[in-house]
Amino acid sequence: MAPLVSHMNNPRPLSQVRVRIMDDPQINAASAGGGEFYVTRGLLEKANDEHLRGVLAHELAHDDLGHVAKAQTLGAGLNIGMILLDQIFPGSGKLTPIAGVLVANSYSRQEEYEADRHGVDILARAGYSKAVMINTLTWLLQTSGGSGGGMLATHPGTQERIDALKKL
Ligand SMILES: [Zn+2]
Repeated sequence: MAPLVSHMNNPRPLSQVRVRIMDDPQINAASAGGGEFYVTRGLLEKANDEHLRGVLAHELAHDDLGHVAKAQTLGAGLNIGMILLDQIFPGSGKLTPIAGVLVANSYSRQEEYEADRHGVDILARAGYSKAVMINTLTWLLQTSGGSGGGMLATHPGTQERIDALKKL
């Protein structure tokens, strides 16, 4: 995650970045503003490195563009995921795992297109192709398309977003 953070338009010092891991089986992630991000246990369990990179680039893009989801947490559960994120985020003393379910307002479709495009920019600056974002969105559609919940509920319009990215 750190290489992506350093390629934002407004790079945040890593000391200001907080990633909170929700004990939520659905695949989801959110930017809560101020360098605060949420990822779910479902995402960490099911995503491969490329998918995780794509999701984080997309969420960092939301943050960079000032899109704030009013994310909140409900419920209680176990803290897990610390070891996984330790591999992603050097200096994971900054991580704050918390229990509960991620509840976030959905972003608008316009915000989704903007975050996809800007996420591709951030990936490119860090040396990755736009295929990372296309593959990530395709995976989200295939993995959670039937459930109607999680990432697709809070980040609408995935097939259209894939088509838009292919035209870039
Ligand atoms: Zn989004």
